[in-house]
Amino acid sequence: MTTHHLDTKLLHIGSAPFDPETGTAPVNLPSMRTSTVRFENLAALERVFAKRAAGERAISYGRSGMDTHRALEEVFMQLEGGTYCVLAPSGMAAINIAFLGILKTGDHVLVCDGVYGPVRNLDRALLKGLGISVTYFAAQDDLDALITPETKMIYVESPGSLLFEMLDLPAMAAVAKRHGVLLATDNTWGSGYIYRPLALGADISVVAGTKYVAGHSDVMLGAVVAKDESVAARLHSAQYAMGNSISADDAWLALRGVKTMAVRMPQHAINALKVCAFFDAQPYVAKIFNPAWHKDAGYALWQRDCTGANGMLSVELKCSPDAAKAYVDALTLFGIGFSWGGYESLVQWVDPGTLAAHTYWKHSPNALLRFHIGLEDIDDLIDDLKQAANYLPRT
Ligand SMILES: *Cc1c(COP(=O)(O)O)cnc(C)c1O
Repeated sequence: MTTHHLDTKLLHIGSAPFDPETGTAPVNLPSMRTSTVRFENLAALERVFAKRAAGERAISYGRSGMDTHRALEEVFMQLEGGTYCVLAPSGMAAINIAFLGILKTGDHVLVCDGVYGPVRNLDRALLKGLGISVTYFAAQDDLDALITPETKMIYVESPGSLLFEMLDLPAMAAVAKRHGVLLATDNTWGSGYIYRPLALGADISVVAGTKYVAGHSDVMLGAVVAKDESVAARLHSAQYAMGNSISADDAWLALRGVKTMAVRMPQHAINALKVCAFFDAQPYVAKIFNPAWHKDAGYALWQRDCTGANGMLSVELKCSPDAAKAYVDALTLFGIGFSWGGYESLVQWVDPGTLAAHTYWKHSPNALLRFHIGLEDIDDLIDDLKQAANYLPRT
């Protein structure tokens, strides 16, 4: 199995084992819902705890998950190219595990300014009170100069949220290594399928499985994947202490969703590039943000480090954020909403206040809209974008 391609592995992880008596099996593992585990006798219980003492994953209680969860952990490990995986009930919970597993009072963390917005809330709501200090940096800043003796982690997201700024992960990993600091990345954009930070030198990869892994807008899910045993032990310990667990049904839905990732992801990318080409020809568009678009500032890094793209893009319109509201409301096939990675198209009107924190944004007074391009017929999507443009101010 190890020699097979990722697409093949993703289809075969979580195949149900044969019943030893009948020699038959369903195709998929069932969703193993349980609150606790029954042991045949005390000797069986002791065997489980001996395994755990030896550092092996052995099932002893519902919270740590059953076979359905183990299969999903395997999915994330294969996607990200890691050897350890901790599941979490949301992407945000996975981010928490990375921060609280690695950092303690007195520590300092460098966070890239293009990170997912709620990370700043984690900083305000929890990290400050715990005495963990955060410095936000821009991609072009000299990281060496920002690292202090207290710095324990560099936390980045590439491509970044909202503007998809590509970061030079191998260069950042080299700085991190030089200083003995861990590099953690939010890889929700790549989801291990089109971008693999661990192979580029990162130590920890966090994924919101809510997005492309589950892929059907029906599950909240997160995962933290690591390569190193001692790092993984800290992540497991944080997860265990915080009592994170995910429902077997959600694990099962994600296992089902990931089976079609190999066909969904490229189709999202094809559709998104067609939308980029359409926007590129419109007089009301000032700029397109998508690292796989050949005019994007991150295109060279994307070509070097990514193996594909997805359905995400943003556009800066030549009008005020307020003027763009009528355009958003006029769209009929794009749901107005946060999140992404499901099969459907979405649009998000980006609050100019949240953009102020991104140095990649040139503090333009223009509107920014973020799109997730779904799997609808691309001609229908473009027709919808065309008709909504009638609601924009004349340019
Ligand atoms: C959505 C998202 C998250 C959070 O995931 P949830 O499952 O919604 O908590 C984290 N990082 C990025 C980049 C995201 O887009």
